[in-house]
Amino acid sequence: MRPLVAGNWKMNGLHKQAQALSAQILAGSGDLDCDLLICPPFTALSAAAAILSGTNIALGAQDCHAAPSGAHTGDISASMLADIGCQSVILGHSERRAAHHESDHMVRAKVEAAQRAGLRPIVCVGETDDERDSGQQMAVVGSQVAGSLPDGFAGDVAYEPIWAIGTGRTPSIDDVAAMHRHIRAALVSRLGHAGRDVRILYGGSVKAENAATLLSAPEVGGALVGGASLDAASFLAIARAAGRVCGRRLQAAAASA
Ligand code: PEP
Repeated sequence: MRPLVAGNWKMNGLHKQAQALSAQILAGSGDLDCDLLICPPFTALSAAAAILSGTNIALGAQDCHAAPSGAHTGDISASMLADIGCQSVILGHSERRAAHHESDHMVRAKVEAAQRAGLRPIVCVGETDDERDSGQQMAVVGSQVAGSLPDGFAGDVAYEPIWAIGTGRTPSIDDVAAMHRHIRAALVSRLGHAGRDVRILYGGSVKAENAATLLSAPEVGGALVGGASLDAASFLAIARAAGRVCGRRLQAAAASA
């Protein structure tokens, strides 16, 4: 298994910008030793798909509805995303859990819908500042993993401490390592043996400058990148760091399994 570096463009990117950024990322991606995924907003997906279709760079969305079709004004189904060329979808991002009141139960239903449509979900989990300050971070994240993943989960999990998203603040390597170990145990408890093979990404203020350090923690299988994914050079530098740092570790783990 290779590391994954996924770019969450959030609500950024008009048609032309999406084409230009996709083309720049594609042009610089030749020598990468990791899987690459970009997740533009819904309206820029087809522009990015026109550039990325048939390449090694996967395309993903940032949300989907749990229903396959119907009276859900303003929503987009998983099969619509697959139809437009997506292979993946980010689900349960903290900004959606907070602003759209998405519960673990809702996230789980979306994951099931995504998998039915043939998409690979990335499920986000993470604690708030207050939860960490009061020592609840392990319980909060453990319960998000248990509640958000269905049986037969076939995707990736991203640990994104909410206080680190877009703030420039990052956890210590020891904290990243401890939480990723905890998530691994929660995955095995939820999914059995299959929980050992789920990639666990780190997300939250990952930049070219700190990527190699953050991704060096054991159990980190790549990165979910927000702000820095809007700049091709920064995103590609993070991808190179992931290939170097996580790639070697994932290969060694696969060889000893
Ligand atoms: C994100 O929103 O998924 C994220 C990790 O953002 P940033 O890298 O900007 O902190």
